Amino acid sequence: MAAKSALWRLREFARPIRLALATALALSGLAAYLEIQAVWKTSGVFEPLFKSISSAATEAEKQTQLGELHSAAVVLLLWIVSAAVCEAIASYLGQWIGQKILFDLRTRLFDKLQSLSLSYFDRHRAGDLISRINNDTAIIQTSVGEQLTRMVVAPLATVFAVGRMFWTSWRLTIAIGLAIPIIASMTLFIGRCMRRYSLRVQEKLGDLTSVTEENLHAIRVVKVFGLEEQLSGRYADENQGVFRGQMKAALLRALTTPFVTIFIGLALAFTLVFGGYELAAGRVANGAGGLMAFILLMQAAGAQVNRISRLHLSIQQAEAAARRIYEILAEMPDIAEPDDAIELDDVRGDITFDGVQFSYNAERRVLEDFDLHIPTGQKVAIVGPSGAGKTTVANLVPRLYDVDEGAVRIDGVDIRRLRNRFLKSLMGIVPQETALFSATIGQNIAFGKPDATAEEIVTAAKAAHAHEFISALPMGYDTEIGERGVMLSGGQRQRVAIARALLRAPRIIILDEATSSLDSETEAAIHSALQTLLEDRTAIIIAHRLSTIINADRIVVVDKGRIVEQGTHQELIAANGLYRRLYETKELFEQDTNSAQ
Ligand code: ATP
Repeated sequence: MAAKSALWRLREFARPIRLALATALALSGLAAYLEIQAVWKTSGVFEPLFKSISSAATEAEKQTQLGELHSAAVVLLLWIVSAAVCEAIASYLGQWIGQKILFDLRTRLFDKLQSLSLSYFDRHRAGDLISRINNDTAIIQTSVGEQLTRMVVAPLATVFAVGRMFWTSWRLTIAIGLAIPIIASMTLFIGRCMRRYSLRVQEKLGDLTSVTEENLHAIRVVKVFGLEEQLSGRYADENQGVFRGQMKAALLRALTTPFVTIFIGLALAFTLVFGGYELAAGRVANGAGGLMAFILLMQAAGAQVNRISRLHLSIQQAEAAARRIYEILAEMPDIAEPDDAIELDDVRGDITFDGVQFSYNAERRVLEDFDLHIPTGQKVAIVGPSGAGKTTVANLVPRLYDVDEGAVRIDGVDIRRLRNRFLKSLMGIVPQETALFSATIGQNIAFGKPDATAEEIVTAAKAAHAHEFISALPMGYDTEIGERGVMLSGGQRQRVAIARALLRAPRIIILDEATSSLDSETEAAIHSALQTLLEDRTAIIIAHRLSTIINADRIVVVDKGRIVEQGTHQELIAANGLYRRLYETKELFEQDTNSAQ
């Protein structure tokens, strides 16, 4: 049944740990058997013993009976201790299995997310994905892992108890068993509601995490615009949603226990009366002791049935979580490399856009009939109005997205034929906003080339004019930066990004120039760092500074996804077209006097 499939599919995670699983299940089964045996022994053995002690004729006979009582008590203790030991080991193993599944699930999910294409992240909110990795997996761990042993103990203990009950009085057992369909259908009904609520709660938790994540991510904007109250309100709304959903689930859980308990109470009252008649008719095995045992067993079975119904709710919750997890695991990356993907020798860095058509989604074409050839070593500045498609052009070269039609080629080879890792190794990308990881500044530079030596890192930093400010930091290259360490200024971040790109010694540079204004000294340092970076390399520059635009070998003017003009600064000014208009209205570049905010 499709409804069961998501949780059932999780068994792939149980396969590598099947030995632990089998041991835990066997021990749980044994514990269930021993527990029921202990109940059975208590009434089955002790009741006749007590009787014979009280009716013993001689002192010697009494002593023998008391001796038997001792050994029966020791045997009983052994049953109970063995059951407890088995249950303890099974419970530990169950925890281990749960944690192991959680560990594997999280790793698989994280790796899966790493492998997915950028377009996937355009469609999904980070907070929701974080929630799936953290919350949904945790639900599976508690529901499946922690309760796994109980899932075996409870039904088995019920079966053993009912078996014994049946042996004592099959008529009584069948009479009570008539209540089972009612309990079962109610449990199934409540379970279905539980799954629905759970799914909603998990979705709401995703929304809640998204609000938190977005808020923290944009905390500067929140502070600058004084959006604190508005966002607190949004958070409170989402939080309220989670609370309401959780309370509905809690109500279901709370209803299940009394419902089953009332049924057990009814069964007990019925057994007392009907059992008395059966006893009178001599139809109860072991007589009064047997009936006592029957009642104790029925209570034990009742407690297990109660557990089963609560477990059923847990399983429904896990099913909802598993579905959300498999939505990610079933996703395939849009950008795949063919089996026979190739790597090129001696890449020159010649880039061609050949009749490219591109859209992010079906709604609107972003690039139309885009043809552009950038010969080896040429630096091309891409300019145009906001939303024209400049960033999109830069995104297509490292194959962050695939073109709809046409091709992007490097040295004449369609980039879709290249090994992904190889393609990325050809380029150094300097984005507008440099992402820093919580690591040392040296490690942050080395993200460009993980196996770089300390010397290589210093050389790259020197060329990027970053060495000086790094040496002045408290621990030099070993200073922790990023969220948990020293904060860097915009200009310093840019130089880290340039050093990172330099370290890769790439053939192609993609540079999205930062728009924020810097003081003239930093500006000069970055300018010379960029000169070093661009030297002898093919470059696509989304240019925001007049000096970069003027110094580029060629300027390509993009408007509404098409190239409308291209040439040098003088040629384009002379052409008296869009470029000149943008230049004269200063829309083309950041004005030097422009302040950052
Ligand atoms: P700007 O100078 O403002 O950065 P741009 O010229 O770089 O603009 P692009 O970022 O390439 O413009 O965007 C071109 C068009 O594609 C815009 O209309 C934009 O709304 C759309 N777009 C950009 N990125 C995405 C995305 N990830 N998903 C959907 N649409 C997008």
